[in-house]
Amino acid sequence: MRIIDLMGRRSPFLSLEFFPPKEKEAWPKFFSTAEKLAALDPLFVSVTYGAGGGTQGNTLDIVARLKQDLGLEPMAHLTCVGATEAVILDFLERLRASGIHNVLALRGDAPKDQPGFTFENQPFRHASDLASLIRKHHPDMGVAVTAYPEPHVEAPSIADELRWAKHKLESGGDFAITQLFFDNRLYVDFVERLRAMGVDKPVLPGVLPILSLKSAKFILSLCGASIPGKFLAALEKAFDQGGDEAVYRVGLDFAKNQARELLEKGAPGVHLYTLNRAEPCLEIGESLGLA
Ligand SMILES: Cc1cc2nc3c(=O)[nH]c(=O)nc-3n(C[C@H](O)[C@H](O)[C@H](O)COP(=O)(O)OP(=O)(O)OC[C@H]3O[C@@H](n4cnc5c(N)ncnc54)[C@H](O)[C@@H]3O)c2cc1C
Repeated sequence: MRIIDLMGRRSPFLSLEFFPPKEKEAWPKFFSTAEKLAALDPLFVSVTYGAGGGTQGNTLDIVARLKQDLGLEPMAHLTCVGATEAVILDFLERLRASGIHNVLALRGDAPKDQPGFTFENQPFRHASDLASLIRKHHPDMGVAVTAYPEPHVEAPSIADELRWAKHKLESGGDFAITQLFFDNRLYVDFVERLRAMGVDKPVLPGVLPILSLKSAKFILSLCGASIPGKFLAALEKAFDQGGDEAVYRVGLDFAKNQARELLEKGAPGVHLYTLNRAEPCLEIGESLGLA
């Protein structure tokens, strides 16, 4: 079923984002984590595509198993950077054959091993090109796109980011999922400005629980999000006093409060970046009364 139709039936809700483990030996543990998280009754679960390299082929197998074995409603991430139309259409056909009806249409990042790579001469330059292609060939599929309340590193300004978010939603996106952020005012302001531009589609906020200082710094270096000074100071103080265990508690409490406040401020649900970990997500779901 299309996620946008599910959204019309239930709010608030949680959705969960996973990444496919690179090694097949890690799959049993992955599926056992997903099974534990099914207790949260997520509206949908999404599986990344190619982020970090080498795992594109696994996305399809994993979404198919999440649906068949666990009865979850999966959404496959799909990037178009460096891809041809034929490759994209083939992937979509294989998704359909596995009973998957939802795709997150992404551009993706420039390949690191191709110096001088430019998006200008690519068949797909932006996620909006992919969203349009999916709409044209699979009009009944559910399509999500990204949004960046804290502007994407390539965006000259938040006004540009808003313009392109609107364009992506008008090119075929049913709803948007945001990049992670830690200041809820960014989300509220972004949604208000989109609404003022005449866009009424749902914008689902992405929340990342910070579970260790090392992983936080790694993830933030990848996505360009910033941590408010006060929160960073609290995490560092916790680390000095009690190491990563103390950071885990501070990070998790922050995520619980952030998610609760987002729902209070009108977000339709919360998209949790799970990092393939069950316990912190279960704790967040319980604190929201959604477990
Ligand atoms: C929820 C979420 C999930 C993600 N999952 C993955 C994943 O599974 N795999 C992966 O590799 N990466 C993933 N990413 C990271 C993503 O690939 C990068 O952030 C990438 O740099 C941008 O992809 P996009 O689809 O947002 O691009 P776009 O929407 O194309 O945006 C890229 C930049 O171009 C601007 N822009 C957009 N459209 C236009 C246009 N028509 N003309 C001019 N400028 C435009 C935007 O404002 C932005 O600054 C994810 C990001 C998010 C937020």
